[in-house]
Amino acid sequence: MTKPIALIAGGGIAGTVAALALERSGWHAHVFEAQPEGSAGHGAWLTVAVNGINALRALGLDPARVLAAGFATPAVSLTNGAGRRLAVTPLGGPTADGTTTTTVRRADLYAALRAAAVERGIPITYGRSLRDFAERPGGVTVTFADGSTAEGDLLVGADGIRSRTREVLDPRGPSPRYLGLLNAGGFTTGPVGADLDRTPGLMHMVFGRRAFFGWAPAPDGSVWWFANPPRKQPARRGEFTPSSWRSHLIDLFAADDSPAAAIIRATPEALGPWNTDDLRRVPVWRSARTVLIGDAAHAVAPSSGQGASMAIEDAVTLGRCLPSPAASSAAPIAEGLGEYERRRRRRVERVVAVGRRNGSGKAAGPIGAAVRDAMLPVVLRLAYRKGDPQAWIFDHGVD
Ligand SMILES: Cc1cc2nc3c(=O)[nH]c(=O)nc-3n(C[C@H](O)[C@H](O)[C@H](O)COP(=O)(O)OP(=O)(O)OC[C@H]3O[C@@H](n4cnc5c(N)ncnc54)[C@H](O)[C@@H]3O)c2cc1C
Repeated sequence: MTKPIALIAGGGIAGTVAALALERSGWHAHVFEAQPEGSAGHGAWLTVAVNGINALRALGLDPARVLAAGFATPAVSLTNGAGRRLAVTPLGGPTADGTTTTTVRRADLYAALRAAAVERGIPITYGRSLRDFAERPGGVTVTFADGSTAEGDLLVGADGIRSRTREVLDPRGPSPRYLGLLNAGGFTTGPVGADLDRTPGLMHMVFGRRAFFGWAPAPDGSVWWFANPPRKQPARRGEFTPSSWRSHLIDLFAADDSPAAAIIRATPEALGPWNTDDLRRVPVWRSARTVLIGDAAHAVAPSSGQGASMAIEDAVTLGRCLPSPAASSAAPIAEGLGEYERRRRRRVERVVAVGRRNGSGKAAGPIGAAVRDAMLPVVLRLAYRKGDPQAWIFDHGVD
């Protein structure tokens, strides 16, 4: 029996995991990635939460292998710019088998997922950007920016927050909006000229006076960090040179009682700036043979620490919802896509709302900061009294 063909636009997290999930459900998956091989998009590193890790396990992948280059980060400490600790809260896990939220370089995560796909015989074609597609009763035809085409039974739009698949699917749908926060990140290479709390697994987040800063001590002695400077206008391409960007960041944290400036000084290259964008509710996720997953369907703000995990959960659920043609007489694809949306929409929209709330606290003015410093410890203590209020996020199983 010939396998039906799933064309996947985007070889990031959602697209690569969807390819693995669909292949497991009896499809022949083919990933088309716009960027050349080796690229890993925006952001230096990211945390993959326990729920995302568990979803990978449901595909028969060994999380210890996929995340081998990362390290466990089960908790986060929150301090203000004056160095006062406001709270320490869990970031998810450990689950019964010891899994905890894990921090990994973005490039390493992409490479590990792509290697798993290639190991299972899934083709990934790089430098192929979806420009258009057309559905007909028997299939879907995708046209790429270089004029080439591909034919399949299903198109999965996993092409990220600026999804072209989404635009073609619903030209009146929402476009991303800038949220008023820039992003930077990096890795130290030399000694940091400041005392650091190197408790293994403890991530640190600082509500600095002028910008938000996060850092984690890696097992190899380096420090991984990110910064979120608030700014009304998005950064323009070429606006900063690598050196002016690094100096700007050091300056933003100079007045804080935190190791932020020292950590950036110990980093030869500050990556970014990247703009933080948001996407209003996407009303149309699917048609008869096309479906959106990951950031293409719902951009979860970086502050939620859940974008990657939602992308993984989407992809695994999609595989589960689409009938295995080998095992059954193939229920219509459209029905499977409807089931996928029913299982995913409510959950991701709740998580998007959490991410939006977390992000807004990063850019507080002096009055907002004073209220936050007074209230946050109390609010968190009350919220955690009856257990982890985020358990509904972390404990979710794709089954
Ligand atoms: C600075 C930053 C920090 C973040 N930190 C975290 C974090 O700590 N934890 C977390 O869980 N999430 C984090 N996120 C969010 C997370 O990165 C995303 O939610 C996640 O990458 C979504 O995966 P995706 O596969 O849907 O999209 P992406 O990872 O963006 O992948 C989309 C892929 O599609 C490709 N593509 C685009 N257009 C086309 C096209 N037309 N044709 C073919 N291919 C195309 C792109 O090149 C890309 O490879 C962060 C995001 C940012 C920007």
